Amino acid sequence: MDLYEYQAKDLFAAHGVPVLPGRTVETADDAAAAAAEIGGAVVVKAQVKTGGRGKAGGVKLARTADEAKDKAGAILGMDIKGHTVHRVLVTQASDIEEEYYFSFLLDRSNRTFLAMCSAEGGMEIEQLAVERPDALARIPVDAITGVDRAKAAEIVAAGKIPAPVADQAADVIVKLWETFVAEDATLVEVNPLVRDPQDNVIALDGKVTLDENAGFRHPDHAALVDERTENPLEAKAKAKNLNYVKLDDGQVGIIGNGAGLVMSTLDVVAYAGEKHGGVKPANFLDIGGGASAQVMADGLDVILGDPDVKSVFVNVFGGITACDAVATGIVEALKILGASATKPLVVRLDGNNVLEGRKILDDANHPLVTQVDTMDNAADKAAQLAAGA
Ligand code: GDP
Ligand code: MN
Repeated sequence: MDLYEYQAKDLFAAHGVPVLPGRTVETADDAAAAAAEIGGAVVVKAQVKTGGRGKAGGVKLARTADEAKDKAGAILGMDIKGHTVHRVLVTQASDIEEEYYFSFLLDRSNRTFLAMCSAEGGMEIEQLAVERPDALARIPVDAITGVDRAKAAEIVAAGKIPAPVADQAADVIVKLWETFVAEDATLVEVNPLVRDPQDNVIALDGKVTLDENAGFRHPDHAALVDERTENPLEAKAKAKNLNYVKLDDGQVGIIGNGAGLVMSTLDVVAYAGEKHGGVKPANFLDIGGGASAQVMADGLDVILGDPDVKSVFVNVFGGITACDAVATGIVEALKILGASATKPLVVRLDGNNVLEGRKILDDANHPLVTQVDTMDNAADKAAQLAAGA
């Protein structure tokens, strides 16, 4: 889960990383009030989960409360890379002597954590990384030993942070590592990390990605979810503990058991769809090992609630949960859903107790269900039904 800048900076503050005071507001009038309360010059900043807000005009300096009102009025409602601005952060402005770049991230390809640091931070960091990669230090961080003062000093030196603020920058980096570990983040990025004229080192921006797999350790993280920007189908699936991801531009709903099978199902449906006017899979949904009637009903309920879905492909390989149990699950699920089940279902069963499973569906003889024996033919049938709908 990606956080907004203000949420990232709240976490920073909780771990002792220096940030400037600020407040989020949703109207221009409230922005004026926040600016008056903070006093002096403020920066009005669009809160959207995308980078490059500065270049898009979503970060503006305001010297007075009136100016903050005007700037907030201009930024609220703005579209930044497809994200509508509903909220701005009004924060104390800093004078800037220098802008640095710093991040900790999970380096999956090298199976380690990575610190990235540069004395040349700011809005051109992507360009710097491409054109002068040497100016952006990359230092592997061992998960066990982590980042102590000595390691932080090594990172600061590699990033060529100037001597007068090197100690302070190292302090901040140790605290950012504490944030990264304590919050179970996969990314903590500060750009810019600034040096002000009094040689204070301050995090002026913050980007944090939390590892949702560690959510059970952080009940407080649930409050960071923004329902307004969450996909309603994904929110519904999450509430029912389903492994569901909505995909763009698809028409064939997919249900399978096991992540690997579901992923190959997406592939065969996309392939079959090419023959039917470019029909595509509409979602990923893994109902896992124990495909009970309730789980099947919950899964079908989410998928049938997707207006983009025109047909559903249920692809199950019976293992520990045998095909007859899954078939019973489908029949019971259709009873639970009743009249709200309105789209054709193509079911392919294979594996443990396949004959018993197929017989249960044959006997139920539900008007929406078509059984197809192979995965490829079932994908073709589901794509054809979606194209014809
Ligand atoms: P981003 O463009 O989405 O990364 O947003 P940032 O929060 O990084 O802001 C973009 C740029 O605005 C920064 O690189 C700074 O140059 C500038 N900026 C942000 N806050 C302040 C501030 O308090 N004072 C000054 N002078 N400039 C700021
Ligand atoms: Mn930034």
